[in-house]
Amino acid sequence: MTRRPIIAGNWKMHLTVAEGLALASEIRNRCARFRGVDVVVAPGAASLYPICQRLADSPIGVAAQNCHHAAQGAYTGELSPVQLADVGCGYVIVGHSERRQLFGETDEGVGKKARALHDHGLTPIVCVGETLVERDAGRTLEVVLRQLDAALGSLRPEEIAASVVAYEPVWAIGTGRTATPAQAQEIHAALRTRLVALAGETVAQKVRIQYGGSVKPDNIRDLMSQPDIDGALVGGASLTADSFTRIVAFENEDA
Ligand code: PEP
Repeated sequence: MTRRPIIAGNWKMHLTVAEGLALASEIRNRCARFRGVDVVVAPGAASLYPICQRLADSPIGVAAQNCHHAAQGAYTGELSPVQLADVGCGYVIVGHSERRQLFGETDEGVGKKARALHDHGLTPIVCVGETLVERDAGRTLEVVLRQLDAALGSLRPEEIAASVVAYEPVWAIGTGRTATPAQAQEIHAALRTRLVALAGETVAQKVRIQYGGSVKPDNIRDLMSQPDIDGALVGGASLTADSFTRIVAFENEDA
């Protein structure tokens, strides 16, 4: 089974609308020719609508960085899957470690969001990952498998197949310290084995599992050479068109 790679850029709380539009246009112009890979950008909430408009006729997808699980209601400051679909998003990142660590996101909450996103035709990018303390205590698999179960547990097999999982070791995010390809592959393989248990072999082979954590143009190729690494969730290196394009172009030596 060959899974179509998916590279997503998480812009976090960076860039004004004008800066985001300029970056989105440049990414569209430079990345649209790479037909063998899905490319997604995740701007801040204030830029989602204009950037969805700017990318509407392009193959570049747009993700929100978070959502609420309810379709609507008295939840000041939140955005619902309905609203995100309405502005043109196709994906939503859920369970990013910054949301878990800084904003109290729980496994249960991530599961509710993944359920709600599928209910409204959006694709969750479900982040899982261990902290350095957890890794050093030998708890990596326990943590990431618990997070995976909670995120996907309420989904039907076809919804699991359509979901994207991002393995992001917390100690590698924004630190310049990348998991080695072998370290990442070990966890990706374990996640896929758990997907087999959750939804069967055929579904598990369809799920795209991204690696995230200090992905750069000079390490993407080695990471992508691993059998269970199907893409990348990129933070810092997604903020310039040059480095992001070089990551997207990982298969094209000449890019
Ligand atoms: C991220 O925020 O998801 C991430 C992986 O960031 P960075 O690439 O900067 O480590």
